[in-house]
Amino acid sequence: MELVGAGPVRVTSETVTPWPGVPAEHPFGLHTLPYGVFTDQVDSPPRVGVAVGDAILDLTKATRDLLPEHAALFGSGSLDGLLIAGRQTWTTVRETLTRWLTDDRHAEALAPLLLPASEVTMRLPFTVADYVDFYSCEQHAANVGRILRPGQRSVPPNWRHLPVGYHGRAGTVVVSGTPVTRPNCQRRGPEDTVTFGPSTALDFEAEIGFVIGTPSALGRPVPLTDFADHVFGVCLVNDWSARDIQSWESVPLGPLLGKSFATSISPWVVPLDALGTARIGPPVRDPHPLPYLDDTGTESWGLDITLEVRLNGQLISRPPFAGMYWTAPQQLAHLTSNGACLRTGDLFASGTVTGAAPDERGCLLELSWNGSTPLSLADGSTRSFLADGDEVSITASAPGPDGTSIGLGEVRGRISPALVDGTLRG
Ligand code: CA
Repeated sequence: MELVGAGPVRVTSETVTPWPGVPAEHPFGLHTLPYGVFTDQVDSPPRVGVAVGDAILDLTKATRDLLPEHAALFGSGSLDGLLIAGRQTWTTVRETLTRWLTDDRHAEALAPLLLPASEVTMRLPFTVADYVDFYSCEQHAANVGRILRPGQRSVPPNWRHLPVGYHGRAGTVVVSGTPVTRPNCQRRGPEDTVTFGPSTALDFEAEIGFVIGTPSALGRPVPLTDFADHVFGVCLVNDWSARDIQSWESVPLGPLLGKSFATSISPWVVPLDALGTARIGPPVRDPHPLPYLDDTGTESWGLDITLEVRLNGQLISRPPFAGMYWTAPQQLAHLTSNGACLRTGDLFASGTVTGAAPDERGCLLELSWNGSTPLSLADGSTRSFLADGDEVSITASAPGPDGTSIGLGEVRGRISPALVDGTLRG
């Protein structure tokens, strides 16, 4: 049964099903309750919502009418107000929403505030402050090493000592559905010629992002144990990557324009509170991490999330997040270990998620092994890298309580042709 905008749908069977009758197996069931920002008509001011089944509860209006003490959190048209409110408020609001959505007494008041998700436009959910991307999947790092540095050690010597990462460009983080224009840039061509032009090796990277709510003080590292005090929730990330630009520019300081043209995120931010059942232990680390990264005996934040990547609608990979070598608390502890502070809206991403099997690889560089084994698609075409018009969709889910599934929604983007002399071709 689907929830429709006309109002809550009551379940008539004898089973105890909370209104509004969201099926237990729905990825946005009552155990998920992700937050996002939407508009429902052209030029309408953005509002904050929580997804429940196939509907969105308008929190900007609902809190104004029913929970005025929290209305300020949702009045700005972004999640920024909620993010900065802190862990105790996040928990209180989630408990209130759960009460609202599981008690018939609230159904009548909330019915006019439910909209069909299919009829709204989702917006960038929060103001992205700083954006950092890690590289914390050992299988991905090893594959990239084998592809780009054959004959050398596949994983760099620092990799098992610290979560390697780079600073990305916050201003080009875009919401799912935003077209991605193929970047122009300088790259090395055949026979070592250096040219300027459209990337010929455009790729995606399937990742999980972590969203900072509570800031930290300059000069004060955030220990592993404070992770959940600062991180509000997770989203999906596609770290679009132009491999030809990246490989030419990255020596010796790392990626810049090969990554900064666009990074797509899912419109829904799933609270950490929804991921309790998905938490698992981390893998064995060798060598043993330094004390500030040693999570022995701490609450584990490995996460049993399975991603799915589709290219033009065809499932091409199912990367498992569960095996990530460095966890998000370790990434956060490392990020602040030098005293760098956190700001509300900071986003840090996991790095490409890749599993051991060939159909678990999280980017085309690995799936096509840098073009040596192009990916075959159902329409008979092949891909080494992305073609103009290609659409990449990444979805993910994690186990929830009582056999339910916690959905992370979708991050989607279609490739537009490169600009020629500042204008669109064709
Ligand atoms: Ca990446």
